[in-house]
Amino acid sequence: MTHVFHRQLRHPLPEAVSARGLTITDRDGKTYLDASGGAAVSCLGHGHPEVLAAMREQMDSLDYAHTSFFTTRVAETLADTLIASAPKGMSQVYLVSGGSEAMEAALKMARQYFVEIGQPQRRHFIARRQSYHGNTLGALAVGGNAWRRAQFAPLLMDVTHVAPCYAYRDQRPDETPEAYGQRLVSELEAEILRLGGDTVIGICAEPVVGATLGAVPPVPGYFKGVRALCDRYGILLIADEVMCGMGRTGSLHAIDQEGIVPDLMAIAKGLGGGYQPIGAVLVQGRIYEAFTQGSGQFMHGHTYLGHPVACAAALAVQRVLQRDGLVEASRVQGAALAQRLQAAFGHHPHVGDLRGRGLFQGVEFVQHKEDKRPFAPGAKVHARVRDEALARGLMVYAMGGTIDGQQGDHVLLAPPFTVQDADLDNIVMRLADAVDAAITGAG
Ligand code: PLP
Repeated sequence: MTHVFHRQLRHPLPEAVSARGLTITDRDGKTYLDASGGAAVSCLGHGHPEVLAAMREQMDSLDYAHTSFFTTRVAETLADTLIASAPKGMSQVYLVSGGSEAMEAALKMARQYFVEIGQPQRRHFIARRQSYHGNTLGALAVGGNAWRRAQFAPLLMDVTHVAPCYAYRDQRPDETPEAYGQRLVSELEAEILRLGGDTVIGICAEPVVGATLGAVPPVPGYFKGVRALCDRYGILLIADEVMCGMGRTGSLHAIDQEGIVPDLMAIAKGLGGGYQPIGAVLVQGRIYEAFTQGSGQFMHGHTYLGHPVACAAALAVQRVLQRDGLVEASRVQGAALAQRLQAAFGHHPHVGDLRGRGLFQGVEFVQHKEDKRPFAPGAKVHARVRDEALARGLMVYAMGGTIDGQQGDHVLLAPPFTVQDADLDNIVMRLADAVDAAITGAG
């Protein structure tokens, strides 16, 4: 009998008792290779001694100080570190405790910014279908995952959703990637005009779509087009890098690869690498100035903003990442993983697409490769692959997105950046076994 209200209530979970490097061990002594970094969280692996030491040291000197009363050296240093490598023009960091909180703060900051500068008529957000921005009500409202939203719909603010950039499914055979991106940008502009350009606050997008689609990168030029629309209509671009950021795609920020700069950027997961719950919003200087020259206060806040131990963990994670060249390792090992996935699944009759960037790689399963028809939702192929992988001691992040009103099936691989070639061999071998076992009889 458990008194923990778990995520899913049908199946008992194994009890994790220890973790080191890429491996988690349960109470029965079974080990699991963490090929998904939990949910793309763990970037250094588990139990890194420098991060643990930094947390202990922080606890010994200052465990907690409420941010209404104090700033702390560790929060200031973390913010300095993040700004030193942030996209151009970013000047401030708003420190929270996770990804949903980061998105909530970004949404409210964007709205208050327009109140501060005398444009209170701006009240709409536009986001994309098949996206995920978090599970709190504001973040859930901008998220475009129909399955997660369905039963909460009456409680969600009104957000319009445009098409995601999902070339495998939506690019037409006669279209170049650039023309496809341009078509999406034109559709987005039509939506802005429908709402009224001066009523829109912000456009939210994951630069590389994570949880809902499984590591889907944009086509060339797409984000440049979105940025241009934001500039034309005075709209803020809110990049959600909670999952794809902090080195995961082979550059520190995923948006860096698109050659544009967002107005607000949410980060979390890899920021603290799982050592502590922490997230942040990176903010353009001109947005911050609107607050300092306006009301002088952001009408928002939580008890654990900038928690010193969380900041110490994140600071240590980011120092190790930089010192050990681990963002570059994500790029190089990501290419090595993609190559192995291609070799194992490139001709698999039930693998429709392999995509991703860096150590953020997705595999999409289909019933028919030729017409890309997904498996029936009831077959729950993604869950079967996850369960078969777990049975083989492999953690992969599985999800069923929504394709044309049907469930689609993907798994996401996002191992720590410290992953070695032999680990990659092991991951792909076990995944291939799991896929064969899961799909046999599923069709
Ligand atoms: N945004 C994105 C893109 C995410 O992938 C997630 C979590 O998976 C979130 C926001 C929410 O983050 P958290 O679970 O830390 O609240």
